[in-house]
Amino acid sequence: MPTPDLSLRGSAPPRSDLTIVGGGIIGLAVAREMARRFPRSSVCVLEREPELGRHQTGHNSGVIHAGIYYEPNSAKARLCVDGARELYRYCEDREIPHERCGKLIVAISPSELPRLEELERRGRLNGVRGLRRLDAAGIRELEPHARGVAGLHCASTGIVDFHAVATAYARDVLEAEGTLVTTCEVRGIEARARGLRLSHTHGVTDTAHAIFCGGAWADRLARAAGADSDPRIVPFLGSYLRLVPQRRHLVRSLIYPVPDPSLPFLGAHFTKRIDGEVLIGPTALLAGARDADHSRNLRFRDLVETLIWPGSWRMFAHWWHTGLTELHHATSRSALVRDAARYVPEVTRQDVQPSFAGVRAQAVSRDGDLVDDFVFSTTERALHVRNAPSPAATASLAIAREVADRAQRLF
Ligand SMILES: Cc1cc2nc3c(=O)[nH]c(=O)nc-3n(C[C@H](O)[C@H](O)[C@H](O)COP(=O)(O)OP(=O)(O)OC[C@H]3O[C@@H](n4cnc5c(N)ncnc54)[C@H](O)[C@@H]3O)c2cc1C
Repeated sequence: MPTPDLSLRGSAPPRSDLTIVGGGIIGLAVAREMARRFPRSSVCVLEREPELGRHQTGHNSGVIHAGIYYEPNSAKARLCVDGARELYRYCEDREIPHERCGKLIVAISPSELPRLEELERRGRLNGVRGLRRLDAAGIRELEPHARGVAGLHCASTGIVDFHAVATAYARDVLEAEGTLVTTCEVRGIEARARGLRLSHTHGVTDTAHAIFCGGAWADRLARAAGADSDPRIVPFLGSYLRLVPQRRHLVRSLIYPVPDPSLPFLGAHFTKRIDGEVLIGPTALLAGARDADHSRNLRFRDLVETLIWPGSWRMFAHWWHTGLTELHHATSRSALVRDAARYVPEVTRQDVQPSFAGVRAQAVSRDGDLVDDFVFSTTERALHVRNAPSPAATASLAIAREVADRAQRLF
C-alpha cells in the first residue's frame, strides 16, 4: 500500500541520536512517542520497503480489540485495554474513520460454554467495558443471520484501517522533526565506543541508541545485535475471503468463534471492515517466506531458519492436528466456507471471493511454545520488540509508551 503524501527522506542520515528500525505501526508509534518526549534529539526511522506499513500493519483484520482474550496481568491484557482507549481518542482527534461496532463471540455447542465463561471472566478481570452474555435469541437479535447456543457481546470492540493510523503516526513523526527513510534495509549492527553503527542499503548510520521494531524480522535483528536466538519468529500466512457485496448484509459487525485458549490465534471470523467489506478468515498456515502474500511464496533463508529451529519441530509435533485443519482451510475455499457457515448458515461458496493475505510474525520458543505475550528485550544501547502479534496494532500507542519508558530508564 503506498504511503499517501508523506515527505520521506531519500537517504539515511550518517548520524542520529535515536534510530528506530522498522516502519510498521509499532516502529512509527515508538518514533512518535520518542520524538515528542525528546524534542531536542534527532529521531530517524529506517524501513526496508519502499513504503511504510507494508507488512502486518497493512494486512490485518482491522479490529480494535477490547482485551477480552488475554491472561489477566499479562502485558497484552494491560496494553490492549489501555491502547484501545487511547486509539479511540487518537482516531477521534485526527478524524480517522473508525467505528465502535461491537463484537459477538458465539458458542455453537454446549461443550464451548465453559470456555465462553472463562472469556467473560478474563474480560471482566482485564477491565473490558460493555460485556454482556446472550442466549440464542439474543444472538439473533444482534446478528439476525448468526446461529449459536450462547454468545458474549462486547460493545467496546471496534474497527479501523491500521494503515491509516500508521500513516497518521508517521505524520506526527515528521511534524516533530523526525526523519523517515524508506528502501533502507538494516543489515548489520556493530557496538562502538559511543553508540551503534548500523549498516544498511544506503551505507551506515552511527546512532547513540536504537529501537528495533522489525515485525517478522525481529529475531534476525536481535541476533545481529548480539541477543539470544530464542525466541525465533515463525511466519504464519493468514488468508482471507470476502463476501460478495450483495451478501454483506449477512453480517452486521464482527462474529467470532470461541477460540482454543492454548493457541494465540482467534480462529477464522467474520469481520466488517471500515470500508464496508466483510472478510472471512484469516487462516493460519506456516508461511514459506516472511514477506509472503501467497502460500506459493518461498524464500530459502526463511524456510531454513524455520526448519532448523528446534522449537518449530516441537510445535509441529504438538499442533499437527490443528496444522492439518488449517492446511485444509487454506487450500480449500469450500472447507473455510463450511467452517464459517457453522456460525452464519446462509453463507455458501458462491457468496465469497478470495481477498488478501498477511503474514503473522509469531515468536516460537526453543521448547516449541507459541509465545503468547508481547516480548521486549535489550542489547547494548538497544531495545527490541521481539514479539508483537495481535492485538499489537490496537495496543500500538500503549506499547510505544511502554517502550519509551524502558528507553528512558535504559538509555
Ligand atoms: C492476518 C493478521 C490479522 C491481524 N489482525 C489484527 C487485528 O484485527 N487487530 C490488531 O490489533 N492486530 C492484528 N494483527 C496484528 C497486527 O497487524 C500486528 O501486531 C502489528 O501490525 C505489528 O506491527 P509491527 O510494526 O510490529 O510489524 P510490521 O507491520 O510487520 O512492521 C515491521 C516493519 O519492519 C520492517 N523491517 C523489518 N526488518 C527490517 C530491516 N532489517 N531494516 C529495515 N526495516 C525492517 C518491515 O519491512 C516492516 O515494515 C493481525 C496480524 C495479521 C498478520
